[in-house]
Amino acid sequence: MRIVFIGPPGAGKGTQAAMLIQRYGLAHLSTGDMLRAARDAQTEIGKLADKYMSTGQLVPDDIILAIVKERLAADDCRAGYLLDGFPRTLAQAEALDRMLAETGEPLDVVLELRVPDEELFRRLSGRGRSDDKPEVIRQRLVAYRQQTEPLLDYYQRRGLLKTIDGVGTVEEIFQRIQEAVDRLGDRTGERRK
Ligand code: AMP
Repeated sequence: MRIVFIGPPGAGKGTQAAMLIQRYGLAHLSTGDMLRAARDAQTEIGKLADKYMSTGQLVPDDIILAIVKERLAADDCRAGYLLDGFPRTLAQAEALDRMLAETGEPLDVVLELRVPDEELFRRLSGRGRSDDKPEVIRQRLVAYRQQTEPLLDYYQRRGLLKTIDGVGTVEEIFQRIQEAVDRLGDRTGERRK
């Protein structure tokens, strides 16, 4: 199963992603985690990416695409993966489509975790990550609304989008996600035959 997971910062994507990959045996591809690892290791890409991350802006597409392309080629992705925090721009989504067309392995579903702004701000303010300062949070939400939200329409038109209500307990939200994913089961089974 190949899943894209979209949601604003603070929607609880990380928590749900960890549960999802375990439940469905997927590789977890979080571009945010990859960039933080590169930043902490002080690689050239990491240092460059940090300039954007620390101000809440998106890292340029060419950097992201290079990282993702390499990661998708790894063996553990063959059994299926969860793309978490990627794609975040239309250009990234189009590039991903081209990569997947080359390998003949289309996406099965795009899950959107939807949470209202006030709730996001409240959750993010209590998290304590270095890019969780109020002005950086605001910028990350702006980046989400302006650059990532257009993807919802892009995937809706392709019939891939499932929107999940992201308000509730961790268990309630995971239940909703599981129901959406399990409903696909038969359809993807058919397609794979
Ligand atoms: P995240 O952990 O997904 O919230 O990502 C943290 C930060 O990493 C973001 O605020 C961006 O600066 C950067 N980032 C992560 N994924 C992407 C992406 N797909 N495109 C551009 N920037 C990204």
